[in-house]
Amino acid sequence: MSWALIPLTEEQRAIQQTAREFANAELAPHSARWDRDASFDRDVVKKLADLGFLGMMIPEQYDGLGLDTCTYLVALEEIAAVDASVAVLMSVHNSLPTQMILRYGSEAQRTHFLTKMARGEWLGAFALSEPDAGSDAASLTTQAVRDGDDYVLNGVKAWVSHGSMADVILCMARTDTPAERKGARGISTFILTPDMVGLTTGKKEDKMGLRGDPTVQLALNDLRVPSANLLGEEGMGFVYAMQSLESGRLGIAAQSIGIARAALEASVAYAAERKQFGKAIKEFQGIQFKLADMATKVTASRALLHAAAAAKDRGQPVTQFASMAKLMATETAMWVTTQAIQVFGGYGYVKDYPVERLFRDAKVTEIYEGTSEIQRIVIARELYAKS
Ligand SMILES: Cc1cc2nc3c(=O)[nH]c(=O)nc-3n(C[C@H](O)[C@H](O)[C@H](O)COP(=O)(O)OP(=O)(O)OC[C@H]3O[C@@H](n4cnc5c(N)ncnc54)[C@H](O)[C@@H]3O)c2cc1C
Repeated sequence: MSWALIPLTEEQRAIQQTAREFANAELAPHSARWDRDASFDRDVVKKLADLGFLGMMIPEQYDGLGLDTCTYLVALEEIAAVDASVAVLMSVHNSLPTQMILRYGSEAQRTHFLTKMARGEWLGAFALSEPDAGSDAASLTTQAVRDGDDYVLNGVKAWVSHGSMADVILCMARTDTPAERKGARGISTFILTPDMVGLTTGKKEDKMGLRGDPTVQLALNDLRVPSANLLGEEGMGFVYAMQSLESGRLGIAAQSIGIARAALEASVAYAAERKQFGKAIKEFQGIQFKLADMATKVTASRALLHAAAAAKDRGQPVTQFASMAKLMATETAMWVTTQAIQVFGGYGYVKDYPVERLFRDAKVTEIYEGTSEIQRIVIARELYAKS
C-alpha cells in the first residue's frame, strides 16, 4: 500500500524496491529487540552506507548519489515503515549535517567531511537544542569564545539524536558576548568531532519510543575547536540551522508516513483475519470506516509531502509547505496508529503485534524538529508574510 498518488519514476520505483527489501531483510528481524533493549547494531550504518542511503542528496563529486529530495523521501518512507529509529538516523544525517556542510561549508570542509559522510564512513548529528532552549532555540546559551586560532566552547546540548555514535556533530553556540547579545544573529555553527578534548557524552534518555536511536546530552567543557571548523560566517549559524530544518521537516514527514502506512497495512490484514460475531471484523462498517479514514489520511499526507519536495527540487521556497507537510504527516501518524490499536482491540495494547511500537514511535514526530504548535506558528506567519 505504498502507492503514490503522484506517480514515481522508474528510478524512484527501483530505489523504493531496494529500500523495502533491505528493510524487510536487515531491519525487520531485529526491530522488536532494539526497541525492547534500547539498543542498536552499528552494522546497520555500514549497511545503509553500502546502499548509498547516507549520501542520497549529496552530489556525485563528493561521493553521494546526487538524487533529488523526492527520491530520498521515497526510500526513507520504506525504512520508516519497518524501523522508525533507523529512519530518524537516516533522516537527520541526510537532511541536517550533510546538507549544512554542502550548502554553507568551505571547499576544504566539503572535501574533508562531506565525502566521508556521503560514503557513510562518518555519521552526522545535529546539536541545536539545550535543556532550557527547545522551541525557543535562539535562546541557547552554549558559549563560544575566540582564543587565538581556536574557539573555546562551554555548555550543554540536549536531545542529540545518535549523538553518542556520531563522527561529525554540527553544534550551534553563541559567539556574541553577554554584553552585546544579538539574539538569533549571535549564534554560529561549529563542526565537532568526538576526539576533541572536552566533549563528553552525558545522560542517555530513556524514551517512550524510537528506542533504537540513542538520544543523549553532550557536555562541552573548555572544548577547543579550531577556527577552520567554523561553518560559514560567524553569527549566521542559526539561519543555517533553520534553513536546513526545512529539509529536516520533509524527512520527518516521510518517517511519519512510513509509520502510519505500517499501522494501516497491519490493520487491514488483522481485520481480515480476526473474527467476532461469526465473521471477520472487516465486514463491520464501523471497522471499514476507520480503515477508509486511515488510508485517506496517509494518501493525502504523502501527496502533500511529494508536492512539497517537488517544489523544493524546482528551487521554490518551501518554508510553509515543509511545515504543512510535517504537521499533516505527523498528526496523521499519531491518529492512524491510535486507530490501529482500536482495530486490534486488546491485542493492539500488547507487544505481540507491531502496532503498539508504531503508536509509541509516532508520538515524537509531533515534537522534534519543531512541535506541531511551532509548525502552525510558521504556517500562520507565512500567511501574513504573503499577504
Ligand atoms: C527523541 C528526540 C530526539 C531529538 N533529537 C534532536 C536532535 O537531534 N537535535 C536537536 O537539536 N534537538 C533534538 N530534539 C529536541 C526537539 O527538537 C525539542 O524537544 C523540540 O524542539 C521541543 O522543545 P522542548 O522539548 O524543549 O519543548 P518546549 O519548547 O519546552 O515546549 C513545550 C510545549 O510548549 C509548546 N510551546 C512552546 N512555545 C510555544 C509557542 N510559542 N506557542 C505555542 N506553544 C508553544 C510546545 O509546542 C510544547 O507543546 C529531539 C527531541 C526528542 C524528544
